[in-house]
Amino acid sequence: MTKKIVVDQNKCIGCNTCPLICPKVFELDTNTYKATVKPGEHPIDEDVNNAIGACPVGAISVEEN
Ligand code: SF4
Repeated sequence: MTKKIVVDQNKCIGCNTCPLICPKVFELDTNTYKATVKPGEHPIDEDVNNAIGACPVGAISVEEN
């Protein structure tokens, strides 16, 4: 089972917090001003969890698939 980090594009307000906390995983799309998850596999480490906890609108989640 793999885990996938997801940013809800409807919830994200583009505050740029998650890219600052965890730039290896998150980046701000300069067209939409929403955070996106960079391509590739990302372990759910402390930085990811900190970004999830810091998101002011709870837009980041981890899905199992
Ligand atoms: S912390 Fe939340 S609201 Fe801010 S850019 Fe990241 S996903 Fe969007």
